[in-house]
Amino acid sequence: MAEVKLENVTKRYGDLEAVSKMTWTANQGEFIVLFGPSGAGKTTTMEMIAGLESLDEGEIFFGEKAMGEVDTADRNVAMAFENYALYPHMSVFDNIAFPMKIPGRSDNYSKQEVKKRVEEIATVLQIEMLLDRKPQQLSGGQRQRVALGRCLIREPVVCLLDEPIAHLDAKLRHRMYAELKRIQRERGTTTIYATPAQTEAMAMADRVVVLFDG
Ligand code: ADP
Ligand code: MG
Repeated sequence: MAEVKLENVTKRYGDLEAVSKMTWTANQGEFIVLFGPSGAGKTTTMEMIAGLESLDEGEIFFGEKAMGEVDTADRNVAMAFENYALYPHMSVFDNIAFPMKIPGRSDNYSKQEVKKRVEEIATVLQIEMLLDRKPQQLSGGQRQRVALGRCLIREPVVCLLDEPIAHLDAKLRHRMYAELKRIQRERGTTTIYATPAQTEAMAMADRVVVLFDG
């Protein structure tokens, strides 16, 4: 857990400035919503925080540490992006448990502990009856919840959620607002959540970062 600080962060794609001198801080344990229309620069911002995209100017800090030279794998960031990718050959259980089984971490968790946490998260997300299935046997909304489960099961420095519940139907989406917020509160995980939906922003954010044209 740590604060996440962006200082004058700028990203260009050719002539397009996708993100312009962006400066803000997510305090430790805070739920920040990045709110803006399609094309505003939300995903680009998330990718730079995750280390999937380089910066043209500025710097990103986790706590006191500048992330400029730090690879994605070493940032301990949990992500659920809109183009959620699940491992097709693994069961839902193994997909959610995967971050607890990464080499070098796995010795931190016993098998019972993994099972307990997967079941706990799956219950919250209402996919506990799907744990033995493979991703291709799930609906879009169910897949999205599995991706979210994989994100929530870890204890990351920061949890990045890029329109993570966009594919859910309205009723489930509303339930997820409260659940997501509850899990985030319980765990005290610094969370950055991108959405173009104002109701979603207002329902979940401690603070909103409004983004338009970068
Ligand atoms: P949002 O997530 O808010 O919809 P994006 O961060 O995806 O916005 O995009 C911001 C702007 O940057 C858009 O104009 C988009 O077309 C552009 N963009 C994003 N990724 C790339 C890329 N890899 N190459 C060129 N342009 C990009
Ligand atoms: Mg986006």
